[in-house]
Amino acid sequence: KCIFCRRCLPDYKPTGDQRIFTIKKTEDTFRRSFHVFPIDSGACGACNMEFLSIFSPQYDANRLGIFMVNTPRYADALIVMGVMTPGMKEALDRAYEAMPEPKLVIAMGACAVTGGIMGENPLDREKYNVEIAGCPPSPYTLIAALNAAMKDKRKADYFESKRQEVH
Ligand code: SF4
Repeated sequence: KCIFCRRCLPDYKPTGDQRIFTIKKTEDTFRRSFHVFPIDSGACGACNMEFLSIFSPQYDANRLGIFMVNTPRYADALIVMGVMTPGMKEALDRAYEAMPEPKLVIAMGACAVTGGIMGENPLDREKYNVEIAGCPPSPYTLIAALNAAMKDKRKADYFESKRQEVH
């Protein structure tokens, strides 16, 4: 078992349900497509690898309406990975400002959620809508969380069950 997501530690207090991802607040709109813009502020890079893998033929997130975009100007959600250092804060703020409403911020992985192995600079809890635990989260976890953020409960439940089968 991994040691970095800290969900097993007494001082970690998950919000919402007990899934490995938590939807804190989103608008109630069901979405048929979801465009995400990744920001990797750098740690080990494995979160980024897992994120990219959901677009591989094995998982094929595009068939579920999930797309990666190259600019925040067309994005529905920022997906933030790695330790959010002070140097990356401006980049995050500018990307957030550039997004159209309604917009979501997703914290992916232990580094973004808790500050990771260094335990410093977690993303401000007030600033993100969805947190995904894991170091790194598996592709099934990620797809389930993104579908939940899209308010597609049927697909979210399906991929959550796949995650439990695999892990
Ligand atoms: Fe790497 Fe884990 Fe941090 Fe993801 S959460 S960037 S896998 S150390």
